[in-house]
This record gives sequence, structure tokens and C-alpha cells, in this order.
Amino acid sequence: MSERLEVVTIDGPSGVGKSTVSRMVAAKLGFTYLDTGAMYRAVALKSRLAGIDIDDESAMRLILSSLDMQLLPAASVDADVQVILDGINVTDQIRTQEISMLASAVSALKPVRDVLTGKQQEMGRQGRVVAEGRDTGTVVFPGAAWKFYLDAAPEERARRRAEQMRKKGQEVDEREILAQIIKRDRDDSERTIAPLKAAPDAVYIDSTAIGPDEVIGLVLEAVRNK
Ligand code: C5P
Repeated sequence: MSERLEVVTIDGPSGVGKSTVSRMVAAKLGFTYLDTGAMYRAVALKSRLAGIDIDDESAMRLILSSLDMQLLPAASVDADVQVILDGINVTDQIRTQEISMLASAVSALKPVRDVLTGKQQEMGRQGRVVAEGRDTGTVVFPGAAWKFYLDAAPEERARRRAEQMRKKGQEVDEREILAQIIKRDRDDSERTIAPLKAAPDAVYIDSTAIGPDEVIGLVLEAVRNK
């Protein structure tokens, strides 16, 4: 067997708290946090700004061939990673509901996955990375030393997302959020390429009834013991 990569992968469905957990785990271990979802969001935003139909394969290939995207460390451990797209800071623009849904749609396209998976592997090649996404343990870093799959009931995930949005002063329709979470989960799990699923060697953590601190503790304990 080849040597295992010094990478922690954290996969799971939308709104399960992967970002909070991944950021804290990365900070505690002194690893770099790699938010792969932010990359799909950036491609979605770019295609939206270009006004192209994402099913137009040649137009999508053009978007990908001119993709100028950088991920910069977040301002603090509770902030999102900073995304610079074509020289512009789009950190907030990629976090809307519309871009969430579009990111899920573009992420089912093979050319998009091929390009972003390649970039992610490049970013993780040196190791000491905590990668968060849907396929980081199955496709991007199958040789990662530590893999986790976080899960929680959709209703609880919708409740947490609504609370987060309320704290930011945004208007919230919790039923709409739940419907979008269920749709994204279904689309992400049922797509043919790199569907959302736990790697066979991932540690499965159900966080429906436990808070982020406990999940972070479980992940750090498993990393330190293996
Ligand atoms: O994690 P986040 O919600 O930011 O991801 C946005 C979308 O990008 C997800 O709904 C999913 O469709 C896609 N994604 C993916 N593979 C990843 C990370 C995200 O398909 N590794």
C-alpha cells in the first residue's frame, strides 16, 4: 500500500456543520483548511456572471479554462475562507441561496469536477490539510490518513442554518431552507460522478444530538490516536 497522505477529510451533506468543525480541527492541528465547496461555488458564480447556460458544455469549458481563482485564509476561525475570482473578492457573493443551488448543479458536470479535483489534489499534495466537501475522502484524497463523514437529520440541519442566517440579520423561511437542503442532498447523492457518500474507511459521526465542540473533540481524538 502507498504511504498515507497527511490529510484529514471531512465529508457530509449540506448544513451539517462541516465548516465549523473543519476550521477548528485545522486550527488545532496547525493544518491548512481546504474548503472544496467554495471552489464549486466560485465556478457557479463565474458562470452566472457570464450569463451562460451551464448545460452548454463548450461555454462551461471556456469558463474553466480561464478560471482565475484563489483561496485565501479566512480572517478568523469563524469566518469563511476568502475567495478571489478574477481578481475580485467574492467571499460573500458565493454564499447566497441561489449560488448554493447553482453550485450543486455545476458540481454534477464532469469537466467541472475534473478541473476542481485536480486543483484540490495539487493543494493537498504537501499534506497537512483538512479538506472539507462531499467527495474528499472518496475521490479527491482516497489515500488520506484520516477520514470522517458527518451526518445529521435534515430538520436539525435546516434549524441550524436558519439560526445562522437570523444571527446575520437575514430573513428566514425555515421550510424553504429545509426543502433546499433536501434537494441538494438528493442531487449530490444521486449524481453519477463523485456522489456524496461516506468512504468505506471513514469514521461516521451523527451530530443530530451533539454540538460542534463534541464533534471537534471526537475528530481530534481519532486523529491523535491513529
Ligand atoms: O459545501 P458547500 O455547501 O459550500 O458546497 C456547495 C456545493 O458544491 C454542494 O452542494 C455540492 O453540490 C458541491 N460540492 C461537491 N463536492 C465537493 C464540495 C462541494 O460536489 N467536494
